[in-house]
Amino acid sequence: MKLRNRIALITGGGRGIGRAIALAFAGEGAQVAVAARTLSQVDGVARELADQFQVSALPVVCDVSDVDSVGRMFAGVRERFGRSPDIMVNNAGIAESAPIARTDDEFWHRHISINLSGSFYCTRAALPEMIERGWGRIINMASIAGKTGAPYIAAYSASKHGLIGLTRSCAVEVAAKGITVNAICPGYVDTEMTTRGVENITRKTGRTEGEAMATLLKMTPQNRLITSEEVAALAVLLASEDGRGINGQAISIDGGTVLS
Ligand code: NDP
Repeated sequence: MKLRNRIALITGGGRGIGRAIALAFAGEGAQVAVAARTLSQVDGVARELADQFQVSALPVVCDVSDVDSVGRMFAGVRERFGRSPDIMVNNAGIAESAPIARTDDEFWHRHISINLSGSFYCTRAALPEMIERGWGRIINMASIAGKTGAPYIAAYSASKHGLIGLTRSCAVEVAAKGITVNAICPGYVDTEMTTRGVENITRKTGRTEGEAMATLLKMTPQNRLITSEEVAALAVLLASEDGRGINGQAISIDGGTVLS
């Protein structure tokens, strides 16, 4: 059990990668809070954790782009577990596509405020107690889009580049305090986000779903989607004692799509 006696807070924990991380962390003995905007989904994951691991998980409704909502989420975690999280996973995110000339202010700010500011709010809230305790882990779910560019995803890509910048500076600032801060940079993962991307390509180009998926898979040398469980396994390593020497990194898990 690599995460026994640890408290983890996972944003975007209602489905997809966040849900897989919640299951993997609970399997390693952590007490877990899962947060997202959709109550039924975080409730569902909390029930799954209880059924599978006999742990009492905390479902939290939170919009990470709203700093007051983040404050209430931390108050809820402290109330339930007696302290703020030892492990903060900033995983909540959205991904929409548009040409830059048609990226309106609202679209731009939505990506920056959820993907980047949301991670900043949670990191700022989590750090003081981590510093006091001399132990902590911050894991930011970036993307290969945080390391490279592609057409139609300027807002998403900018938010994920920003998240990697936040990761690097924060990592150096708290390195001597028993805290590590890292980013995970997945390629296409088998979640609803990718399904929505495929539907979008289908709608905009008239290609079939099979053809649209083949277009995505062509970008990765392994010619397959990464599974949520693979991403979760990397998160477990970063959260555990085994990962204590890994700090300030942006680790790609993409089958070799981006070579950096
Ligand atoms: P999903 O769309 O399946 O899940 C996203 C999660 O984030 C949901 O639980 C969603 O819940 C939550 N969320 C979205 N906006 C907010 C918000 N404002 N406040 C709180 N929670 C929010 O996506 P994935 O699981 O695929 O993605 C998870 C992370 O991984 C994202 O940051 C994404 O950018 C990143 N990623 C994904 C890749 C992929 O191919 N799928 C590739 C690279 C990176 P709700 O809507 O109920 O709030």
